[in-house]
Amino acid sequence: MPAPVPVHPPHAAQTCAVCDRSLSFAECRHAGPAAVPLCASQECHWVAAQQARLGPFAYASFVRRHRESLARRQAEEARREARHLAQVAFESRESRRLLARVRAEAPSLPEPRPINLPDGRRPEEAVSQARIDRYRAHVLAQIDIARRADSSEDSDFIGDRGTLQREHETAARFAHAPALAGCCDALCRLCEGGCCTGGADHAHLGPLSFRLQLDAEPELSDEALWDRYRVHIPEKSRSGSCIHHTAQGCSLARPLRSPTCNAFYCLELRALQACEDPVGPVLAIQRNYGHFQRFDPGPRPRVVRLALIESGEARWIATRRPRER
Ligand code: SF4
Ligand code: SF4
Repeated sequence: MPAPVPVHPPHAAQTCAVCDRSLSFAECRHAGPAAVPLCASQECHWVAAQQARLGPFAYASFVRRHRESLARRQAEEARREARHLAQVAFESRESRRLLARVRAEAPSLPEPRPINLPDGRRPEEAVSQARIDRYRAHVLAQIDIARRADSSEDSDFIGDRGTLQREHETAARFAHAPALAGCCDALCRLCEGGCCTGGADHAHLGPLSFRLQLDAEPELSDEALWDRYRVHIPEKSRSGSCIHHTAQGCSLARPLRSPTCNAFYCLELRALQACEDPVGPVLAIQRNYGHFQRFDPGPRPRVVRLALIESGEARWIATRRPRER
């Protein structure tokens, strides 16, 4: 039976007046004796702030619906977490088996490090005018925001500048570890853009991308900026992925790509980059999932290709026809 919804719950109840979760000691102290007890969630604070506007009856019903929606989201989150754990456990057992097989076939090889890779390969399809129009609208809207800031040093860009900082740190790490840089490049080439599926019709371009160009060339018009991107729209791109994602790679040159694209590495590659040891041979285990779809419901991803990477050179060991997931 659902817990009753308190409109003005007594503070002694020690549960959040909105989500009904037990409050921690710190949350109880923070609420103070006169306040409605609330947990630390911003969402609960927002819901509680609607009480004055809605009145007691509508507010009680609002809180009840909010709790139901919260319960649904928590159940979905728990299912996702369970899928995540089961898949990671399955993949690590499978990777160990594959590693043992490779070791048995090449006993002289130093133990390779297994790396899970997504698969960016998808059939190509013609880029429709509707996609180009959406892309243009996005770019012009971002240029408009960029023009409202004085420069890329503006405080509006603090978050995005963190992304630029990450890109510079990775470049500095690679400058001191060229073997690591070569290995990461080889892995991304094998993967063929498994993380580009999030690029859709915006290519992760935000105001900072354009503000940086306007800082360097203040006289650039909106159309001139858009033209820089328009001319690189391919005739065909990978279906269900970024407008610039082609079978030959990204159709945008690095300086035109967003800081997000230039700084991004998936968790597997970030773990490899964080490794203190010199990079040895790597066994790339590619499965048929897109980076952002890895833990989606559906059939379990299967291994489609295996490759050994040594000194930045990849050698296929086994391949299998990709199957859409
Ligand atoms: S960063 Fe990871 S997901 Fe993206 S292309 Fe490289 S290997 Fe693939
Ligand atoms: S712009 Fe290039 S790197 Fe960025 S998501 Fe699109 S295809 Fe990938």
